[in-house]
Amino acid sequence: MSRFRMYPTAAQAERMLLHCAYARYVWNLAVEQHAHRRPGRRSAPGFAEQCRQLTEARRESAWLRAGNADVQQQALQDFARAKSARFASGFGEPTWRRKHRHEGFRVIGTDRVPESHPDGSPKLNTKTGRQVMGRSVVVQRLNRRWARVKVPGCGWVRFRLTRAGLPVAKTFRVSFRNGRWHIAFAVIPDPVDAPGTGEVIGIDRGVKITAALSDGRRLNCPQLTTRERAQVRKHQRRAARAPRGSEAKAAEYAKVARIKAREADRRKDWCEKTSTMLARTCRLIRFEKLNITTMTRSARGTVEQPGRNVRQKAGLNRSILAQGWGLLRRRTGEKAPGRVEDVPAPYTSLRCSACGWIEKNSRKSQAEFVCISCGFTCNADENAAVNVAAGQGGIPRPRRTAGAGGVTAATGRSSAREPRPARVGIPLL
Ligand SMILES: [Zn+2]
Repeated sequence: MSRFRMYPTAAQAERMLLHCAYARYVWNLAVEQHAHRRPGRRSAPGFAEQCRQLTEARRESAWLRAGNADVQQQALQDFARAKSARFASGFGEPTWRRKHRHEGFRVIGTDRVPESHPDGSPKLNTKTGRQVMGRSVVVQRLNRRWARVKVPGCGWVRFRLTRAGLPVAKTFRVSFRNGRWHIAFAVIPDPVDAPGTGEVIGIDRGVKITAALSDGRRLNCPQLTTRERAQVRKHQRRAARAPRGSEAKAAEYAKVARIKAREADRRKDWCEKTSTMLARTCRLIRFEKLNITTMTRSARGTVEQPGRNVRQKAGLNRSILAQGWGLLRRRTGEKAPGRVEDVPAPYTSLRCSACGWIEKNSRKSQAEFVCISCGFTCNADENAAVNVAAGQGGIPRPRRTAGAGGVTAATGRSSAREPRPARVGIPLL
């Protein structure tokens, strides 16, 4: 993916927002159609059938006809792709798109270029033997820093070039969020080559140190500054006190959103740079296996059984999510395919990386690790990272009940337990 900030004129922005509205409308219709499907009923229409229905709907509705047909059809295409990738994408079933939150549309290039096979030979039609023509996006370079792209109904729209070379793609997606337009060209970049030297690196992700590397480096994801956090609180307070539905309330929330968008930008930037660095300098990259969804589950509970320490857990969840653990792992995997491993996490923080002894009391505090057995002293996160690099989580906990024929003594309270995040008394900071 290559994504750039887009700078449309006011008139162009207005047109593009309309495109967003049409794309959202068509997408939501498709979601409706598929939500209607039940066992026993006829299956929901596929992409080709939906396109026919769209043509029919455009004939009947003047509002739909006023919109761009390509943009509407690409929304269906997006939906079909999301639907077929629902088990692998991590996003699940395609869901409703909302105004202000999911503003975007896809554009298919209008330029025709000859298609070729991966080995470079021209792609020919099997029946006619003629050259197959594919689509390409029309992009023009203006100068060193600026380029422009053709958007249907809007003419040339400028975007800021922030990487070398003009993007070559069949389609691109335009999105609008927090008052900013972005353009993302559908390009799959080549994976980063492994370095000649064979270095294995382990990464322990934490809240205090975002990524502790087994070679002793400590990398931190930039957060909001104290001043910016104070600004967020100020605007949230003002928004809370503004009358319901007032312009002031919306304006204050927009200010909060803008600061938070800045935080997300910094996090993304850091994750991209760090994952590229890891992919370039290490042959094998090992992450400890984390289930972030379960880790950041709310402690709220139900009305009948309210949870304990809900506020603290919410704060911990926020700081976990602010670290970008998942993004760092995903992007590293994408840039270095086949060179990233997940090491099971149990005991990585309690195992001594020098002698292998697993003991709860070895971890003196959040930062300090002193082995009870051999006296090895180290930073706790670095110790865990070394364990991860060695691919060592430690032995699995003995099972309480033995399997068929096996005899395993119940261990009762083992001292070798990971600190549980939801309980009190865990040194979190
Ligand atoms: Zn030891």
